[in-house]
Amino acid sequence: MNERILISGAGIAGLTLAHWLARHGMRPTIVERALELRTGGNGVDVRDDAVTVAERMGLMDRIRELATDVNGMKFVDAADRAVARLDTRDDASVEVMRGDLVALLHEVTEDAEILFGDSIRALTQDDHGVTVTFEHAPARHFDLVIGADGMHSHLRRLAFGPEDRYLRHKDHYFAFADADGRLGEDRWVTMFNTPGKMIGIYRSGNHAQAKAYFIFRSEQLNYDHRDVAQHKRLVTEAFADQPWQPARGLLAAALTDPDFYFDALGQVHMDSWSSGRIALVGDAAWCASPASGAGAELALVGAYRLAGELAAAGRNHRLAFARYETGHRSLVDRKQQISPNVRLMVPKTEGGRCLRDALVRLPLMKAAGAFERRLQARAAEPLPIYHRAA
Ligand SMILES: Cc1cc2nc3c(=O)[nH]c(=O)nc-3n(C[C@H](O)[C@H](O)[C@H](O)COP(=O)(O)OP(=O)(O)OC[C@H]3O[C@@H](n4cnc5c(N)ncnc54)[C@H](O)[C@@H]3O)c2cc1C
Repeated sequence: MNERILISGAGIAGLTLAHWLARHGMRPTIVERALELRTGGNGVDVRDDAVTVAERMGLMDRIRELATDVNGMKFVDAADRAVARLDTRDDASVEVMRGDLVALLHEVTEDAEILFGDSIRALTQDDHGVTVTFEHAPARHFDLVIGADGMHSHLRRLAFGPEDRYLRHKDHYFAFADADGRLGEDRWVTMFNTPGKMIGIYRSGNHAQAKAYFIFRSEQLNYDHRDVAQHKRLVTEAFADQPWQPARGLLAAALTDPDFYFDALGQVHMDSWSSGRIALVGDAAWCASPASGAGAELALVGAYRLAGELAAAGRNHRLAFARYETGHRSLVDRKQQISPNVRLMVPKTEGGRCLRDALVRLPLMKAAGAFERRLQARAAEPLPIYHRAA
């Protein structure tokens, strides 16, 4: 029963889920819209229970080897002088480039079939399974279908209704792109602010290439989330007039980068993550926004729990989906209490920026961050070890 499982999306959640489903004896197939794995993105945090999940996958040593070793955030003025630094190093967490994590997860997902360059066109479910038609591959029958296709989840739209029911705009847009690795300071995220905007350079300790970073405050904009030319125009309009000298070069490089990435800071809120034989995991179900710093952690832990609950419930999907949700929702709720991160990175006014710089110079800021993270970790439910039901 419930052996053939289709996963939409080969990101962190989809790959982790495929690994654990295969380990528990199920047969995952992934359909990924991109032609190959999407390895873009900046650093993502693997922390607390996500460290445990990665250890159980045999990946934590490799993740530690690939750690970005970023010291923290450096705020600069228009003359490129550092006005404040915030040390964000934290023993409970390892930051790794998103692309490195995706590649590692892919290595341990070799048992899964992956259909690249395709997407679900339509699906119908009944008591016996789900019939899926694809954009390209022939129609197939699966026992369960799981959406791990990110914040703008296509499967969520097909099975749960339009995006605007679930996606909440969090007043900011962000973009990143490859940048000249000689810019900025090694192991620091250099940031320059004007009111409501931040442009910066992310330099990890283990990558020659740097990343350019753009965030701007805005009411909800009307644009197509797949139209990259339109995204580039929006970022150009927002950042054309920055007085910081490296800004012009960063923007010019971003506009020619084929991996340019743009999206809204948004959160997904749903009352239920499943409907019959269809369920969601990762950003598709609960995106907490990149400002939470918790996207990878929630995806790793959520996917681990979903596969584990299916195994423990003898693949009874109704029972498993309910337990998955009960077990994971409190962590999601905590991480969705959007941290002041974005307010810190993008102050609304010049006065706010001065206050931020003054606060960051106090040792209190690092201690307060560490205290909040310890409280969150203490409140977490223990992560079960799952066994296949006899
Ligand atoms: C290119 C990229 C860069 C990112 N960079 C950052 C970053 O720098 N910092 C950060 O905090 N978060 C970043 N994120 C988001 C972060 O990966 C997630 O918050 C978190 O890891 C949860 O992952 P996920 O697997 O749920 O979603 P995602 O990582 O978004 O993966 C979703 C996957 O689904 C695929 N997909 C989308 N639509 C379809 C479809 N119709 N059919 C099949 N497949 C589909 C996508 O191509 C993608 O591979 C990025 C996401 C992407 C895709």
